Amino acid sequence: AKTAGRNTFRFFDEAMHAQLVERRHLLSLLRGALERHELRLHYQPQIDLHTGEVIGAEALIRWQHPELGVVSPARFIPIAEESGLIVPIGNWVMREACRQAKAWQDAGLPRFVVAVNLSAVQFRLPDFCQTVADALTDSGLSPDCLELELTESLLINDADGVLETVRELKALGLQLSIDDFGTGYSSLAYLKRFDVDKLKIDQSFVRDMDRDADSAALVLAIVQMAHSLGLKTIAEGVEHEHLAAALRSLNCDEAQGYHFARPMPAGDFEGWLRNVVAL
Ligand code: C2E
Ligand code: CA
Ligand code: CA
Ligand code: CA
Repeated sequence: AKTAGRNTFRFFDEAMHAQLVERRHLLSLLRGALERHELRLHYQPQIDLHTGEVIGAEALIRWQHPELGVVSPARFIPIAEESGLIVPIGNWVMREACRQAKAWQDAGLPRFVVAVNLSAVQFRLPDFCQTVADALTDSGLSPDCLELELTESLLINDADGVLETVRELKALGLQLSIDDFGTGYSSLAYLKRFDVDKLKIDQSFVRDMDRDADSAALVLAIVQMAHSLGLKTIAEGVEHEHLAAALRSLNCDEAQGYHFARPMPAGDFEGWLRNVVAL
Protein backbone atom coordinates (compact mmCIF):
# COMPACT_ATOMS: atom_id res chain seq x y z
CA ALA A 1 0.00 0.00 0.00
CA LYS A 2 2.92 2.23 0.83
CA THR A 3 4.43 1.74 -2.64
CA ALA A 4 1.10 2.38 -4.33
CA GLY A 5 0.75 5.56 -2.34
CA ARG A 6 4.15 6.71 -3.37
CA ASN A 7 3.45 5.85 -7.00
CA THR A 8 0.20 7.76 -6.89
CA PHE A 9 2.03 10.70 -5.42
CA ARG A 10 4.72 10.50 -8.07
CA PHE A 11 2.06 10.26 -10.77
CA PHE A 12 0.41 13.48 -9.64
CA ASP A 13 3.79 15.06 -9.21
CA GLU A 14 4.80 14.20 -12.76
CA ALA A 15 1.46 15.25 -14.21
CA MET A 16 1.72 18.57 -12.40
CA HIS A 17 5.29 18.97 -13.53
CA ALA A 18 4.34 18.29 -17.15
CA GLN A 19 1.55 20.84 -16.91
CA LEU A 20 3.92 23.39 -15.44
CA VAL A 21 6.46 22.84 -18.22
CA GLU A 22 3.75 23.18 -20.87
CA ARG A 23 2.43 26.38 -19.30
CA ARG A 24 5.92 27.83 -19.06
CA HIS A 25 6.52 26.92 -22.69
CA LEU A 26 3.25 28.52 -23.83
CA LEU A 27 4.05 31.61 -21.78
CA SER A 28 7.46 32.01 -23.45
CA LEU A 29 5.78 31.78 -26.88
CA LEU A 30 2.97 34.13 -25.87
CA ARG A 31 5.41 36.85 -24.78
CA GLY A 32 6.22 37.91 -28.32
CA ALA A 33 2.90 36.97 -29.91
CA LEU A 34 1.54 40.51 -29.99
CA GLU A 35 4.70 41.95 -31.61
CA ARG A 36 4.82 39.08 -34.12
CA HIS A 37 1.17 39.79 -35.06
CA GLU A 38 0.07 36.26 -34.18
CA LEU A 39 -3.04 37.51 -32.36
CA ARG A 40 -6.25 38.13 -34.30
CA LEU A 41 -9.83 38.98 -33.48
CA HIS A 42 -12.75 36.96 -34.76
CA TYR A 43 -16.27 38.38 -34.65
CA GLN A 44 -19.51 36.55 -33.92
CA PRO A 45 -22.83 38.27 -34.67
CA GLN A 46 -25.50 38.89 -32.05
CA ILE A 47 -29.07 38.84 -33.32
CA ASP A 48 -32.26 40.53 -32.12
CA LEU A 49 -34.59 37.53 -31.72
CA HIS A 50 -37.70 39.56 -32.49
CA THR A 51 -36.59 41.58 -35.53
CA GLY A 52 -33.81 39.30 -36.80
CA GLU A 53 -31.47 42.30 -37.04
CA VAL A 54 -27.76 42.10 -36.29
CA ILE A 55 -27.38 44.27 -33.20
CA GLY A 56 -23.88 43.39 -32.13
CA ALA A 57 -20.70 41.41 -32.60
CA GLU A 58 -18.56 39.78 -29.92
CA ALA A 59 -14.82 40.07 -30.47
CA LEU A 60 -13.07 36.78 -29.63
CA ILE A 61 -9.31 36.51 -29.59
CA ARG A 62 -7.39 33.93 -31.64
CA TRP A 63 -3.73 32.99 -31.41
CA GLN A 64 -2.24 31.54 -34.54
CA HIS A 65 1.22 30.23 -33.73
CA PRO A 66 3.44 29.18 -36.68
CA GLU A 67 4.23 25.78 -35.12
CA LEU A 68 1.49 25.16 -32.57
CA GLY A 69 -1.31 26.18 -34.94
CA VAL A 70 -4.40 27.80 -33.44
CA VAL A 71 -4.22 27.91 -29.64
CA SER A 72 -7.64 28.21 -27.97
CA PRO A 73 -8.20 31.22 -25.70
CA ALA A 74 -9.39 28.78 -23.03
CA ARG A 75 -5.75 27.57 -22.96
CA PHE A 76 -3.79 30.80 -23.21
CA ILE A 77 -5.99 33.44 -21.52
CA PRO A 78 -5.45 31.92 -18.03
CA ILE A 79 -1.68 31.96 -18.66
CA ALA A 80 -1.88 35.55 -19.88
CA GLU A 81 -3.82 36.48 -16.74
CA GLU A 82 -1.38 34.79 -14.37
CA SER A 83 1.63 36.44 -16.00
CA GLY A 84 0.13 39.90 -16.43
CA LEU A 85 0.45 39.62 -20.22
CA ILE A 86 -3.33 40.02 -20.36
CA VAL A 87 -2.82 43.75 -19.80
CA PRO A 88 -1.07 44.54 -23.11
CA ILE A 89 -3.09 41.82 -24.88
CA GLY A 90 -6.42 43.05 -23.47
CA ASN A 91 -5.48 46.59 -24.34
CA TRP A 92 -4.77 45.57 -27.91
CA VAL A 93 -8.12 43.70 -28.09
CA MET A 94 -10.01 46.80 -26.97
CA ARG A 95 -8.24 49.16 -29.37
CA GLU A 96 -8.47 46.76 -32.31
CA ALA A 97 -12.18 46.05 -31.72
CA CYS A 98 -12.95 49.80 -31.52
CA ARG A 99 -10.88 50.54 -34.63
CA GLN A 100 -12.58 47.76 -36.61
CA ALA A 101 -16.10 48.73 -35.51
CA LYS A 102 -15.48 52.35 -36.52
CA ALA A 103 -14.00 51.26 -39.88
CA TRP A 104 -17.16 49.19 -40.57
CA GLN A 105 -19.37 52.17 -39.72
CA ASP A 106 -17.31 54.43 -41.97
CA ALA A 107 -17.65 51.84 -44.75
CA GLY A 108 -21.43 52.25 -44.54
CA LEU A 109 -22.31 49.05 -42.70
CA PRO A 110 -25.21 49.28 -40.26
CA ARG A 111 -24.31 50.46 -36.76
CA PHE A 112 -23.94 47.73 -34.19
CA VAL A 113 -22.31 47.30 -30.81
CA VAL A 114 -18.94 45.59 -30.54
CA ALA A 115 -18.59 43.50 -27.36
CA VAL A 116 -15.18 42.96 -25.78
CA ASN A 117 -14.32 40.36 -23.11
CA LEU A 118 -12.57 41.68 -20.03
CA SER A 119 -10.35 39.96 -17.53
CA ALA A 120 -10.52 40.86 -13.83
CA VAL A 121 -6.81 41.68 -13.99
CA GLN A 122 -7.42 44.50 -16.51
CA PHE A 123 -10.45 45.73 -14.65
CA ARG A 124 -8.53 46.20 -11.39
CA LEU A 125 -5.83 48.41 -12.92
CA PRO A 126 -6.09 51.93 -11.51
CA ASP A 127 -5.97 53.51 -14.98
CA PHE A 128 -8.40 51.06 -16.60
CA CYS A 129 -11.17 53.61 -17.29
CA GLN A 130 -8.66 55.96 -18.87
CA THR A 131 -7.47 53.12 -21.11
CA VAL A 132 -11.04 52.56 -22.28
CA ALA A 133 -11.63 56.28 -22.75
CA ASP A 134 -8.42 56.53 -24.83
CA ALA A 135 -9.44 53.57 -27.01
CA LEU A 136 -12.74 55.32 -27.73
CA THR A 137 -11.18 58.72 -28.42
CA ASP A 138 -8.37 57.36 -30.60
CA SER A 139 -10.73 55.21 -32.69
CA GLY A 140 -13.50 57.78 -32.89
CA LEU A 141 -16.04 55.08 -32.01
CA SER A 142 -19.12 56.37 -30.25
CA PRO A 143 -19.20 55.02 -26.63
CA ASP A 144 -22.68 53.55 -27.03
CA CYS A 145 -21.23 51.22 -29.69
CA LEU A 146 -18.85 49.59 -27.21
CA GLU A 147 -19.93 46.89 -24.77
CA LEU A 148 -17.72 45.37 -22.10
CA GLU A 149 -18.44 41.81 -20.97
CA LEU A 150 -17.77 41.31 -17.27
CA THR A 151 -17.98 38.12 -15.26
CA GLU A 152 -19.88 37.58 -12.04
CA SER A 153 -16.70 36.69 -10.13
CA LEU A 154 -15.13 39.98 -11.23
CA LEU A 155 -18.06 41.89 -9.74
CA ILE A 156 -18.10 39.93 -6.49
CA ASN A 157 -14.46 40.15 -5.48
CA ASP A 158 -13.28 43.39 -3.95
CA ALA A 159 -16.67 44.95 -4.54
CA ASP A 160 -15.74 48.47 -3.39
CA GLY A 161 -13.15 49.38 -5.99
CA VAL A 162 -15.24 47.53 -8.55
CA LEU A 163 -18.34 49.59 -7.83
CA GLU A 164 -16.42 52.80 -8.49
CA THR A 165 -14.93 51.44 -11.73
CA VAL A 166 -18.36 50.32 -12.96
CA ARG A 167 -19.71 53.81 -12.26
CA GLU A 168 -16.87 55.45 -14.17
CA LEU A 169 -17.33 53.10 -17.12
CA LYS A 170 -21.08 53.79 -17.26
CA ALA A 171 -20.30 57.50 -17.12
CA LEU A 172 -18.30 57.07 -20.34
CA GLY A 173 -21.59 56.05 -21.96
CA LEU A 174 -20.77 52.48 -22.89
CA GLN A 175 -22.74 49.25 -22.33
CA LEU A 176 -21.98 46.60 -19.73
CA SER A 177 -23.04 42.98 -19.79
CA ILE A 178 -22.52 40.02 -17.46
CA ASP A 179 -21.01 37.04 -19.25
CA ASP A 180 -21.76 33.38 -18.47
CA PHE A 181 -24.65 34.53 -16.30
CA GLY A 182 -25.93 31.87 -13.92
CA THR A 183 -22.69 29.93 -13.55
CA GLY A 184 -20.88 32.10 -11.04
CA TYR A 185 -22.39 33.33 -7.85
CA SER A 186 -25.45 32.22 -5.94
CA SER A 187 -26.46 35.64 -4.64
CA LEU A 188 -28.08 38.05 -7.07
CA ALA A 189 -27.76 41.01 -4.72
CA TYR A 190 -24.94 42.47 -6.78
CA LEU A 191 -27.35 43.07 -9.69
CA LYS A 192 -28.93 45.82 -7.62
CA ARG A 193 -25.59 47.51 -6.96
CA PHE A 194 -24.11 47.49 -10.43
CA ASP A 195 -25.61 49.44 -13.27
CA VAL A 196 -25.29 46.81 -15.99
CA ASP A 197 -27.36 46.66 -19.18
CA LYS A 198 -27.53 43.02 -20.17
CA LEU A 199 -27.22 39.44 -18.92
CA LYS A 200 -25.62 36.85 -21.18
CA ILE A 201 -27.34 33.57 -20.34
CA ASP A 202 -24.68 30.86 -20.23
CA GLN A 203 -24.57 28.25 -23.00
CA SER A 204 -24.97 25.41 -20.50
CA PHE A 205 -28.58 26.46 -19.80
CA VAL A 206 -29.34 27.18 -23.44
CA ARG A 207 -27.94 23.92 -24.78
CA ASP A 208 -30.42 21.54 -23.15
CA MET A 209 -33.42 23.84 -22.95
CA ASP A 210 -35.46 21.77 -25.40
CA ARG A 211 -34.74 18.45 -23.66
CA ASP A 212 -34.73 19.54 -20.05
CA ALA A 213 -37.66 21.35 -18.46
CA ASP A 214 -35.44 22.61 -15.61
CA SER A 215 -33.07 24.41 -17.99
CA ALA A 216 -36.01 26.02 -19.80
CA ALA A 217 -37.46 27.09 -16.43
CA LEU A 218 -34.11 28.64 -15.48
CA VAL A 219 -33.86 30.54 -18.74
CA LEU A 220 -37.40 31.85 -18.29
CA ALA A 221 -36.65 32.87 -14.70
CA ILE A 222 -33.49 34.74 -15.79
CA VAL A 223 -35.35 36.55 -18.60
CA GLN A 224 -38.18 37.59 -16.30
CA MET A 225 -35.87 38.74 -13.54
CA ALA A 226 -33.71 40.68 -16.01
CA HIS A 227 -36.74 42.40 -17.52
CA SER A 228 -38.15 43.33 -14.14
CA LEU A 229 -34.79 44.96 -13.35
CA GLY A 230 -34.80 46.76 -16.70
CA LEU A 231 -32.02 44.58 -18.17
CA LYS A 232 -31.84 42.88 -21.56
CA THR A 233 -30.96 39.24 -22.07
CA ILE A 234 -28.88 37.49 -24.69
CA ALA A 235 -28.60 33.71 -24.97
CA GLU A 236 -25.22 32.26 -25.93
CA GLY A 237 -24.49 28.97 -27.66
CA VAL A 238 -27.66 28.88 -29.77
CA GLU A 239 -26.86 26.07 -32.19
CA HIS A 240 -30.27 25.24 -33.69
CA GLU A 241 -33.34 27.00 -35.01
CA HIS A 242 -35.63 25.24 -32.52
CA LEU A 243 -33.58 26.75 -29.68
CA ALA A 244 -33.93 30.21 -31.22
CA ALA A 245 -37.69 29.63 -31.47
CA ALA A 246 -37.91 28.45 -27.86
CA LEU A 247 -35.92 31.46 -26.67
CA ARG A 248 -38.19 33.76 -28.66
CA SER A 249 -41.24 32.25 -26.98
CA LEU A 250 -39.62 32.83 -23.56
CA ASN A 251 -39.19 36.49 -24.58
CA CYS A 252 -35.38 36.41 -24.54
CA ASP A 253 -34.22 39.53 -26.40
CA GLU A 254 -31.12 38.46 -28.30
CA ALA A 255 -29.12 35.41 -29.30
CA GLN A 256 -25.67 34.41 -30.42
CA GLY A 257 -24.44 31.03 -31.62
CA TYR A 258 -23.47 28.69 -34.45
CA HIS A 259 -27.07 28.62 -35.71
CA PHE A 260 -26.61 32.22 -36.86
CA ALA A 261 -22.87 32.22 -37.51
CA ARG A 262 -19.57 31.07 -36.06
CA PRO A 263 -16.96 33.59 -34.98
CA MET A 264 -15.27 34.77 -38.20
CA PRO A 265 -12.19 36.78 -39.19
CA ALA A 266 -13.03 40.45 -39.79
CA GLY A 267 -13.11 40.12 -43.59
CA ASP A 268 -15.47 37.13 -43.52
CA PHE A 269 -17.68 38.84 -40.94
CA GLU A 270 -18.01 41.88 -43.17
CA GLY A 271 -18.92 39.67 -46.14
CA TRP A 272 -21.46 37.77 -44.05
CA LEU A 273 -22.99 41.03 -42.84
CA ARG A 274 -23.24 42.56 -46.31
CA ASN A 275 -24.97 39.40 -47.45
CA VAL A 276 -27.43 39.40 -44.53
CA VAL A 277 -28.42 43.04 -44.87
CA ALA A 278 -28.23 42.78 -48.70
CA LEU A 279 -26.09 45.90 -49.14
P1 C2E B 1 -17.01 33.34 -23.81
O1 C2E B 1 -16.79 34.81 -23.63
O2 C2E B 1 -18.09 32.72 -23.01
O3 C2E B 1 -17.24 33.16 -25.37
C1 C2E B 1 -18.15 32.25 -25.94
C2 C2E B 1 -17.45 31.04 -26.49
O4 C2E B 1 -18.43 30.17 -27.06
C3 C2E B 1 -16.47 31.35 -27.62
O5 C2E B 1 -15.38 30.42 -27.51
C4 C2E B 1 -17.30 31.07 -28.86
O6 C2E B 1 -16.53 30.77 -30.00
C5 C2E B 1 -18.11 29.89 -28.40
N1 C2E B 1 -19.40 29.75 -29.12
C6 C2E B 1 -20.11 30.68 -29.77
N2 C2E B 1 -21.25 30.16 -30.26
C7 C2E B 1 -21.27 28.87 -29.91
C8 C2E B 1 -22.22 27.79 -30.12
O7 C2E B 1 -23.27 27.93 -30.75
N3 C2E B 1 -21.87 26.58 -29.59
C9 C2E B 1 -20.72 26.38 -28.89
N4 C2E B 1 -20.48 25.16 -28.42
N5 C2E B 1 -19.82 27.37 -28.67
C10 C2E B 1 -20.10 28.60 -29.17
P2 C2E B 1 -13.87 30.89 -27.71
O8 C2E B 1 -13.83 31.88 -28.82
O9 C2E B 1 -13.04 29.66 -27.81
O10 C2E B 1 -13.54 31.65 -26.37
C11 C2E B 1 -13.47 30.98 -25.15
C12 C2E B 1 -13.36 31.94 -24.00
O11 C2E B 1 -12.12 32.65 -24.03
C13 C2E B 1 -14.43 33.04 -24.00
O12 C2E B 1 -15.64 32.53 -23.49
C14 C2E B 1 -13.78 34.08 -23.10
O13 C2E B 1 -13.98 33.76 -21.76
C15 C2E B 1 -12.31 33.92 -23.45
N6 C2E B 1 -11.90 34.99 -24.39
C16 C2E B 1 -12.02 35.03 -25.73
N7 C2E B 1 -11.53 36.19 -26.23
C17 C2E B 1 -11.10 36.92 -25.15
C18 C2E B 1 -10.49 38.22 -25.00
O14 C2E B 1 -10.27 38.98 -25.95
N8 C2E B 1 -10.21 38.60 -23.71
C19 C2E B 1 -10.46 37.80 -22.63
N9 C2E B 1 -10.13 38.24 -21.40
N10 C2E B 1 -11.03 36.59 -22.75
C20 C2E B 1 -11.35 36.15 -23.98
CA1 CA C 1 -17.96 36.59 -23.73
CA1 CA D 1 -19.99 33.50 -22.27
CA1 CA E 1 -17.33 31.20 -21.02
